[in-house]
This record gives sequence, C-alpha cells and structure tokens, in this order.
Amino acid sequence: MDNIEQIINRLYEKYKDCAGEGEVASYIPALAGADPDGYAIAVTTVDGKEYVLGDYDTKFSIQSISKVLTLAMLMKQMGEDLWHFVGKEPSGSAFNSLIQLEYEKGIPRNPFINAGALVITDRLINFNQKPKQSIIEFVRELAGSEDIYFDKTIALSEIDTSFRNEALASLMKSFGNINNDIEEVIDIYCHQCSISMNVLELAKSFLFLANAGVNPADGRQIVSSRGAKRLNALMLTCGLYNESGEFAYRVGLPAKSGVGGGIVAVIPGKLTIAVWSPVLNKNGNSSRAISTMEDFTTELGISVF
Ligand code: GLU
Repeated sequence: MDNIEQIINRLYEKYKDCAGEGEVASYIPALAGADPDGYAIAVTTVDGKEYVLGDYDTKFSIQSISKVLTLAMLMKQMGEDLWHFVGKEPSGSAFNSLIQLEYEKGIPRNPFINAGALVITDRLINFNQKPKQSIIEFVRELAGSEDIYFDKTIALSEIDTSFRNEALASLMKSFGNINNDIEEVIDIYCHQCSISMNVLELAKSFLFLANAGVNPADGRQIVSSRGAKRLNALMLTCGLYNESGEFAYRVGLPAKSGVGGGIVAVIPGKLTIAVWSPVLNKNGNSSRAISTMEDFTTELGISVF
C-alpha cells in the first residue's frame, strides 16, 4: 500500500498515449464533445490519502455511475422492500436492452441496467419531495464538495434523445412497476446521469463503500455495513453491464462504469480508484480505464479475491 504513488505513476506513463480502441459515446449528442485523449487517475484511501494524475481537474458526466449512489439513497430510505421490484442478477445484455424486461414482466434484472435505475429513480420520487435536489445534495456530501452540479447541456441532450429509456419506462409502467409520470422519471434520471465530477471527487464519493458504509471524511454512516457489502456485491456482479464477468476476471474488484468514460472501483477496507478516459469499447466501458485498473490490482497484489 505504500507503493500506490509509484504504481499509478508507472501506469500513467504506460497508458497516457494510448486511449484504446473504440469511440467516445455519441448516442447522447452532448457527450460526443469529450476529449478522446482525456485521461485521469485518482486513488483515495480510507486513512485519508489522495493521489491524482493526468486531467484530474476535468469534470465529466458520471452517467451510470450515478446508479450506485441513487441505489444507496433508496436503500437508506426503503430498506429491503426495494428488492420486490428490482432483481439482483447480472443481465448479460446491453445496459439499455428491452428484450429481457418483456419476458420478466417488467421487473429489471438489477438496479444498474437502465431499466433498474429507472425504477430506483421512480421510487426516489415517492420518498423525496424535491428528488433532484436531494440527489445532488447527497452526492455533494459524499464527495465533500459543493462544486458538483448537474450538467444541464448533457441532461437536456439526453432528455431529447431518450427514446429507449422512455420505452423501458413505458413497458415497466404497463406492468405496474413505475408509479410516477414517465416524463418526470426520465427528467430526474437524465439529470442524475449528467452529474459532473472530476476523478478525485468521484473516488471520494465512493469511499464509504470501502469503509463499511461510513464516509471516512466526516464519520457519517451512509449505509449500514451490510448495505455496503450488498452494494459492493452488486457492483462486482453487475457494475460493468455485460462485461461484468470479464472485469471481475481481469481486475477482481467491485466497480461501476458510465458512458461518460469513468470507472470507479473499491478495495473494501482500503481504498477507491477512479479512472476517466472517454473512449469506450463495444460494451460501453472505457477501455483504458479497465486496463489501468487491471494493472493496478496486479501491481498492488490486492483485490477482493
Ligand atoms: N444516461 C445513460 C443512458 O441512460 C447512462 C448509460 C451508461 O452510462 O451506461 O443511456
């Protein structure tokens, strides 16, 4: 653990000129403007150390990574009851797939595919009078920074092109698994996905998952230690869409990716690592972030296994 700085320096040098095969996401038009060469690494430890490299000041939209944070919020507010309307199994299909949802009568496989996250957002509307405000305040508190906002341009761009998410929400509503207006659910979901953070803020906002549910920065219990175990288990099995098995095999850590090019991973009891590099592979995950994390656990000699 005292060699973290040397390891990430080496990894940065190794990968800084190879963004990897693939493209920056463009199905949400405003995401297409991200710099394909952008690359940043942050590591934060439960005992208060922080390491950053590369474009660590650049804010990017966390996209699907927000699904872990909204799930943590709802776990706190709803407890175990939430598992009646969303599952805990890997889906093995794309993050925005409709097919499984029809077979499985509107109950999404897990909270990290879009259908599952839409259900979580829907229930957050029931529990919070001002859901957008509650979400952004929760994330600011976790990251220990007031400088975290919804990126309105990205949110509006996604709302304008949210045809698949609207289809998912409508299908689930037809099965009685969405309570609120679809328009409102999509609006809040697209705002949560547009949350902009840099790698350090991202790594810090996941530290409670490395510390049995307690944010080490202020000692606040965000979820119970059992809740943290469950969130980590879900990230390990479902955090990288249909590449979750491959990621567990190569990296061996619970993690969550987003189409903004960020991935954050947790070593329980020790640290979080966040990497941003917006070129995505065919599964919608950042190629360079995966390679960086694979080398990180290899060189550190620590994973969850
Ligand atoms: N906002 C994105 C969508 O719904 C999130 C997808 C992702 O990051 O994987 O399509």
